[in-house]
Amino acid sequence: MVDWQVLSTRIGKVAPSATLAVDSKAKAMKAAGLDVIGFGAGEPNFPTPGYIVEAAANACRDPRNHRYTPTAGLPELRQAIADKTLRDSGFAVQPEQVVVTNGGKQAVYEAFQVLLNEGDEVIIPAPYWTSYPEAVKLAGGVPIKVFAGADRGFEPDMDAIEQARTARTKAIVVNTPANPTGAVWSEETVTAIGEWALEHHIWVISDEIYEHLHYDDASVSYIGACVPEVRGQLLILNGVAKTYAMTGWRVGWMVAPAPVAKAATTLQGHLSSNVSNVSQRAALAAVGGSLRAVAMMRAAFDARRKAIVSALNAVDGIVCPNPTGAFYAFANVQALLGRPIGPGNTVCATSAQFAAALLDQAHVAAVPGEAFGAPGYLRFSYALADDQLVEGMRRLTAWVS
Ligand code: GLU
Repeated sequence: MVDWQVLSTRIGKVAPSATLAVDSKAKAMKAAGLDVIGFGAGEPNFPTPGYIVEAAANACRDPRNHRYTPTAGLPELRQAIADKTLRDSGFAVQPEQVVVTNGGKQAVYEAFQVLLNEGDEVIIPAPYWTSYPEAVKLAGGVPIKVFAGADRGFEPDMDAIEQARTARTKAIVVNTPANPTGAVWSEETVTAIGEWALEHHIWVISDEIYEHLHYDDASVSYIGACVPEVRGQLLILNGVAKTYAMTGWRVGWMVAPAPVAKAATTLQGHLSSNVSNVSQRAALAAVGGSLRAVAMMRAAFDARRKAIVSALNAVDGIVCPNPTGAFYAFANVQALLGRPIGPGNTVCATSAQFAAALLDQAHVAAVPGEAFGAPGYLRFSYALADDQLVEGMRRLTAWVS
């Protein structure tokens, strides 16, 4: 591009999504005929349950769905989301507090757009999902990353969070079960964050998209249930993608105090209008129905979780803590950096280089920890088919040894 064709400073500060980049590269390699095993994006391998697909097929034939509908979503779906919030997050909300978005990601984007002024700070517990800091930056905010390591089970440290607080702290992100670590935060931590936010007048953005994926005796704590007084400054973000194997349908939502929901609706009115009605009808069948399908998927994920954690820990130089939520294994590969690996004796200085070499040489896709504020780690999504998981671990083990 010539000189004057310079793009905005705003977009120049934003990094591409590393999870989607790894996924696209793996899918492109597959399309080119290579046999790639994808532990990249967190995407359930199951098809969307039949009754949900059926609802969408019927919706296609109904001309009511061929037109614009309210920006904030179909009234029936907003009601179903309000009912579901009472069932799961533990408190009653009105449909007016719900905004249906194009995937959970748009709810994340809109949350920061409506809350932040230039220079406002958002505390993001690290390791974090790769898109949070970028969405904060797109809203003119400043992400403040507060790291908690494997030594404390990746559970946020309240002292560190308090130390990071300044007069500009506007919001904090809560994500349990967490992406990328699979950690399920204790009730004590979730409560402490809620009380701290209440005391210091800080918005809480609670991303609950992995709520139904927990294993062993882990139980998920919802901040609005733990600290009822925080509900007036709480934005819940969620979606159908992970619970109902519906990543491609792009339906998420925000549940927020009514003025926040109204502001997000104003923004969405200029951004994308209503979410596809066909997808909304599918989401209505999902959210309004039972949790039987996710129980079946959770059992499958649980078996894969055990298999991948033991396969990773069996590799000399890899240490993988036991995740009890979501569908990610977050493995420490630091001991493998700086020494020759694979048939070509490749020396990787960073986990980003390690992930690139693993994909190029062993055709195994995983996301480097750099994308999540945790260099030295690799994230493996175990939402792929059992045989793929076994083959991917076999390749990784062979490549490293
Ligand atoms: N949230 C999933 C992940 O972390 C899907 C990809 C994305 O949107 O980042 O892999």
